[in-house]
Order: sequence, then C-alpha cells, then structure tokens
Amino acid sequence: MALGDTTAIHQFSCLDDNFGVLIHDSESGTTVAVDVPEASAYASALEETGWTLTHILITHHHWDHVEGLGDLKTSTGATVIGPARSRMKIPEIDRTVEDGDTVHCGPYKIDAISTPGHTLDQISWHLPDIGVAHTGDTLFSLGCGRVFEGDMEMMWSSLSKLLRKLPDETRIYCGHEYTADNAKFALTIEPDNAELQKRAAEVEDLRAAGKSTLPTSMKLEKATNPFLRAGEASVAAALGMDGKNAEEVFAEIRTRKDNA
Ligand SMILES: [Zn+2]
Repeated sequence: MALGDTTAIHQFSCLDDNFGVLIHDSESGTTVAVDVPEASAYASALEETGWTLTHILITHHHWDHVEGLGDLKTSTGATVIGPARSRMKIPEIDRTVEDGDTVHCGPYKIDAISTPGHTLDQISWHLPDIGVAHTGDTLFSLGCGRVFEGDMEMMWSSLSKLLRKLPDETRIYCGHEYTADNAKFALTIEPDNAELQKRAAEVEDLRAAGKSTLPTSMKLEKATNPFLRAGEASVAAALGMDGKNAEEVFAEIRTRKDNA
C-alpha cells in the first residue's frame, strides 16, 4: 500500500491558539509529532489515537513550540530532531538539521527547509511522499509570522523558497490558528480577490462551528495569502506600489499587518 494510504494525521489545539500535530503510519507504527506547545495535550492525543510516539520534529525555539518537549520526550522516549542553530537553546534535541538535510522517520523521508525570518533557526518540514509540510511560524494560512530575529528581506526570501519548493497540492500545517484575523487583514490588501472572499467566508463558518482552518494548501495560499502574493503586479498596484519589487511590497504588507 502507498504511504499516503497508511498515513493518518491528527491535529489538535494546544495552549491558546497553537497546534499539535501527529503524523502516523499504521504499517510501521511510526508516529511523528511536530512541535510540543503542551505535553498534556499530546498525552491526551496519543491516548485517544492509541499511537506510540517515535519522533518529534521542532520548527523553532520559541517557548510556545517547545514548552512541553521535555515532559513528552521523557514520557515517550521519542527521538527529537530540530534546528542545529538552536542546539544550545533546546537541550532535548538528539539530532540536528541544517537547510537541505533529509531525515528518515520510519518510512517518512522528511526534508528540512531553512526558512529564517520569524526566528533565525526556523525549519519548515516537508514530507514530499505524502504531500504534507509543516511551516511552523513562517507561513500561516492567509498570513506569515512576525519578523522578530531576521529582517524583511530574509522573510521574503524564506517565503519565496516555500513557493518554489512546495507543490500546489501540498497540505500545509503550521503553528497557529490565526486565520480569521489574517483573513480580515488580507481583505484590506485585496478586497476584490474573489478567492480570498470565498476563503474568508469559509474561515468564518469553520470558526463559528468551532473547527480548525488548517491544513490549507499551497494552491489556496498562492491564490489568497497577501504575503505570498507580494510579487503579483495586481497586489503592488492595489498598494499604490506599481513597479516596486516583491521584497518591497512584502515589507509594506508586513509593516501594515504589524500596525493593524
Ligand atoms: Zn514563534
């Protein structure tokens, strides 16, 4: 059976608006977690699914992504893989990765894509064989992370890298449920984008029903996420920035969001 057919993904809420994600292969029994905002939420998810945790991937060092790591590692004995750059900040890391490295967790081939900007250590994880990526706090649905440690140029370069590397069908998981707020902001940039209007309505319905808006897809984000669309002439025009390059347009959008 194809890996995609034996894979199940369980996403659940942690803390206020963080996500926990478990990727499970029923054939091998491999279960991979991405980030650990809260150990108790993971313990419940593992109990509920009956899955045994084997690996933990970390996207970046912020506390709300690693707070539960120590406890979860101790209780499960899972192998922790994370950014080399944060080796000293995250003592639980067993194996480090740099940009372009590939790790194998059971049957999963997982590519580490360095996407700095929000933090310098940020890694986006790509599982090409099942068409899944976790973009941490770099790419959100209809948004992107705040630029804390890097600069605008770096963040745009990271988002451009995701645009190049992740195929349209890729299902995107990320660190936070921020989509409803992001949709409101995105509509201030592209009020006439019909796909965005449709997505914003869908997001409103999902949230009203208490459901998550993730995963999204690269295809949907390319059509609706203003931060990924900074290179579109129509977006530059909408901001009165005709002829400006994508990086300048991105910086303007990010600055507006910071001040929104
Ligand atoms: Zn963060």
